[in-house]
Amino acid sequence: MDALDRVVEQFSSLPTIGKKTARRLAFHLLRQSQESVDEFATAIVQMRSQVRECATCHTFTDQDCCTICSSAKRDRTVICVVEQPSDVLAIERTSEYQGLYHVLHGTINPLDGVGPDEIRLRELVSRLGGGLVELILALNPTIEGEVTTQYIAKVAAPFQLKLTRIARGVPVGADLEFADDATLRKAIEGRVPL
Ligand code: ZN
Repeated sequence: MDALDRVVEQFSSLPTIGKKTARRLAFHLLRQSQESVDEFATAIVQMRSQVRECATCHTFTDQDCCTICSSAKRDRTVICVVEQPSDVLAIERTSEYQGLYHVLHGTINPLDGVGPDEIRLRELVSRLGGGLVELILALNPTIEGEVTTQYIAKVAAPFQLKLTRIARGVPVGADLEFADDATLRKAIEGRVPL
């Protein structure tokens, strides 16, 4: 396999990228200068080696503790539980929410063999004590999101927190990260008791 084919194969292994797009991207890179392609490749390598999960909320960060968890301005009495780091970015874009986050990195999905131990649920439970007052469940409105929400409600029950979920302004079956800012802002504002 020649160098061009290798790159096309790598690109087409990415989500949403088909063979045709992969080829177009590869040709595009061949038309760029050596320096700019070096820069591109280095950015990917450095991202993979430097970015890790925040020790507290498990979102992606290149420090031990992310900027949200280490900020003195955030309300430490509220944690918003989301599925993916991209959901943190989506909610941050609304500027509506001032609390902390917890990223599960997935949902419970028995059909795919994903149980509570395969996502960051134990890590969530370990954060429920202390001064925490409210837990906002902002999982995607899918069957797996619902199963996971109910599971969290069960394990959080002994801590007597205020449990809320974001309002259903988010279209059913749609991913949080693709909801527009206004919809998401309303969904957080109008959150309802679980
Ligand atoms: Zn964090």
